[in-house]
Amino acid sequence: MPKLLPTLMDHALNRTLGVYQGLEPRRPNALVIPRFVVISARIPSILAEVERHVEVDSLYRPLVLADERTWELAGEALFRELQAAGLRPRKELIRGNMYAQAARVIQAMSVPPRVWSDEEHPWERRLYGAKLTGVVFGVGGGTVVDLAKLISFQLHIPCISVPTSLANDGIASPFSVIRPDGPGNVTARANTPFGVVVDLGRILPRRPEDKPFFLTMMRSGIGDALSNLASTLDWQLAVRFEQEKMDYLAMLHARSAAEVVLQRILAGAALEDEELILTLAAGLVSSGEAMGRVGSSRPASGFEHKLYHAWQNILEYPSRATHGVLVGVGTLISLVAHEADWEPVREGMARVGLPVSRRDLEGWGIGWEPLREAIRVSARVKPERYTILEHLGVEAVLAAADRAFVAR
Ligand SMILES: [Zn+2]
Repeated sequence: MPKLLPTLMDHALNRTLGVYQGLEPRRPNALVIPRFVVISARIPSILAEVERHVEVDSLYRPLVLADERTWELAGEALFRELQAAGLRPRKELIRGNMYAQAARVIQAMSVPPRVWSDEEHPWERRLYGAKLTGVVFGVGGGTVVDLAKLISFQLHIPCISVPTSLANDGIASPFSVIRPDGPGNVTARANTPFGVVVDLGRILPRRPEDKPFFLTMMRSGIGDALSNLASTLDWQLAVRFEQEKMDYLAMLHARSAAEVVLQRILAGAALEDEELILTLAAGLVSSGEAMGRVGSSRPASGFEHKLYHAWQNILEYPSRATHGVLVGVGTLISLVAHEADWEPVREGMARVGLPVSRRDLEGWGIGWEPLREAIRVSARVKPERYTILEHLGVEAVLAAADRAFVAR
């Protein structure tokens, strides 16, 4: 009921001032999983794909969000397409995942008088007033998509995710990793993308110099996908010992996403194989959907993600290891601690070039002692989330790390 007034205002203001025409469903924030997901080897027209699921009228004045690199890669082409269709698109380029970037775009897209819902956290507030755009296209990597999801959440309009890399499971999840003014990242509530369009042509490297970046992103995405093998075990542990609720469908979604990716790798797929990229894309979407179903990161985040937060956001260790690589490292440690079948996972990680020895870790800028320190500090991350770390204690997990990562 308290939402009735702002909702009426939303309709009234947008009828008279704004261009937002409403896009089914009318309450995009209530969406838990994307309405449509298109994963394909070749998509000549993104707009044509979107039009199959959404009436083109509801796409009027779309906002194309990208960064400098992804604008060149895919954003500009989409912008021109929207322009040619007479939809009068807008463009915003962002730099980094600072919250200020999102705030700037939100301000630029809202028209006074503004009506914000009174959510407690400033990041969770939502604009019910007029907007200059009706839908946000996030064209880019994890950062761009995360900002697009947050911007669409605050503007109270839908967002469509068009990833140009597959580095993590944020492409379809209801959360955004955002950097506040200070150092360290924070996970914020955001809109689940209304639609996801993954085109291999926008992900595969076009020039030889783009290849190292592509490989790093693929390794990251694989690490994040495989991490579901560990996080779902943690979840089951919490159900058994902490009376936590289990959503079996979400658990299976998250888990099978990791399993199919691992199977493809063990069957010999290389990082540039079309089938592996398509499988990874579907796996990451599936993982994001699982989080959307539960309304929490539980299906896809256990001890291995605590380790990442400890490393990145508490200890702030510099390293070239990405989110996915760090959670991959945590996954191996977790599986050993769980006494799960970890050898095939180690084999799979080794095949795609993820670290499986202390020497490999050094190559990614992950020192052995800092890693041990991060395991200790992990106990301070989300202590209410029961994982193998809370179950066995820090010493046992340190011992598991010793077993998981041999010297070379
Ligand atoms: Zn993750």
